[in-house]
Amino acid sequence: MTQLLCNQCGKTHSTPTTLWKCTCGGILDLEFRSSFPVEKIQKRKPAPWRYKEAIPIENKKHTVSLGEGLTPLVSMNFSGKTVYIKQDQQFPTGSFKDRGASVLISKARELGVKKVVVDSSGNAGSAIAAYCANANISCDVYVPENTVLGKTAQIRSYGAKLHKIPGTREDTANAAFLAAKEHYYASHYWNPYFIHGLKTFAFEICEQLGWSAPDTVILPVGQGTLLLGAALGFKELLQARIIHSIPKLIGVQAENCAPLCHAFHKSTGRINTFNKKSTIAAGIAISNPLRGKQILDAVQKTNGEFITVTEKEIKRALQETRHRGYYIEPTSASAIAGLKKYISKSDPGEVIVSIFTGHGLKATEKITSTG
Ligand SMILES: *Cc1c(COP(=O)(O)O)cnc(C)c1O
Ligand SMILES: [Zn+2]
Repeated sequence: MTQLLCNQCGKTHSTPTTLWKCTCGGILDLEFRSSFPVEKIQKRKPAPWRYKEAIPIENKKHTVSLGEGLTPLVSMNFSGKTVYIKQDQQFPTGSFKDRGASVLISKARELGVKKVVVDSSGNAGSAIAAYCANANISCDVYVPENTVLGKTAQIRSYGAKLHKIPGTREDTANAAFLAAKEHYYASHYWNPYFIHGLKTFAFEICEQLGWSAPDTVILPVGQGTLLLGAALGFKELLQARIIHSIPKLIGVQAENCAPLCHAFHKSTGRINTFNKKSTIAAGIAISNPLRGKQILDAVQKTNGEFITVTEKEIKRALQETRHRGYYIEPTSASAIAGLKKYISKSDPGEVIVSIFTGHGLKATEKITSTG
């Protein structure tokens, strides 16, 4: 049965519903039974929607898609070791967030929603705005005042209404949260349908590796939606006996904003709001991630860990990646900096996957400032 389960009070809510948080204020998770008819899947178009039996949309006529493709899994050599990098910067809006936006806005269309609100450091807002434009749903996007022009211009160009909020990233989130009293909140971290869209990241990797799981997956973590989506995707594949083990999940945070890394290494495991310093990896600068406890649990369960990277390491990884012909944004380079650190202690035969999360063209101003 498909239903929403509250993380805080344990109450279940039957679907369909436009609830995006519990009546008690708690976070909702979606309980949903997926299946993987492998032979059918392999005959379908190379796109995330080929796994439609694992995506919680009741009627496929509500699907909102920009024709996004199954992104390449490219083998690259780092520090003498071959690893695989998923090319999610190639999505229609230039980031992996399209995986979540496509499913979340399909659900909004299915629910008959006419208007959504979302807050973002840029990329989630662009993705939600683009899919809303395609679905003819109006969209208000809240971003911090200092968001780069490449991202604000992109959001506006899809016809979304842009609200620039002074103050911190948290002030922006609060402004959207208030607006969500009246409109559907298409939040990538509150709304469970977004996370169910990100499962396709795990599905594609396993299919591209011949329906087998890698040993290790290294991901940047801000709100942790990518990591949680990956964890859920691998879990569903394991339950369906498509794969036989779950990869170790490694979360990468900027040293200047690393609340989860700190909590992970503390015996209490308690997450404190991080007194953050500015970081070039703006997309992961989240001082108190909403689903923090779930992220810590997911990493712990897979015997994974957290790695922090300095500003210098992020800039070096960004430059090194550009010099190979891949134009990614600084936030995306944080994962590559973490990957380089992890490789030094990896096992010889270990199959490692990481990701390019966002396209460089979104952040030209930032990139030119790094030299
Ligand atoms: C959103 C984003 C991240 C972080 O993803 P979370 O789900 O918030 O952890 C990393 N890189 C880029 C380019 C992003 O847009
Ligand atoms: Zn509740």
